[in-house]
Amino acid sequence: MTEYRNTVPENWFVDPVKLGVPGVSNGGVGDDNPLAWQADALCSQTDPEAFFPEKGGSTRDAKRICSSCSVKSECLEFALENDERFGIWGGLSERERRRFRRRA
Ligand code: SF4
Repeated sequence: MTEYRNTVPENWFVDPVKLGVPGVSNGGVGDDNPLAWQADALCSQTDPEAFFPEKGGSTRDAKRICSSCSVKSECLEFALENDERFGIWGGLSERERRRFRRRA
């Protein structure tokens, strides 16, 4: 049985300070951070709930945002590598990522 999460995971995005967002002191964390792409994530500036819709909820708004996101491919790659089961990542839903994986 598939488990559905209807809240945004606490670890969805790491603290922008740790990512080294320009103008924000990063405490010594550099560009070698594998999550550095998240500093440019468009969704971090929007309502994260849209990216983790309840079962049967619309993914349209999240996917529209992803389509303009400059780190879409990094995001999708991260989700595939980490087997992210919930939410919209890189413009794809969980089901679409499963299909994508099978085709690869
Ligand atoms: S592709 Fe979508 S989910 Fe990924 S970082 Fe960009 S806006 Fe967020």
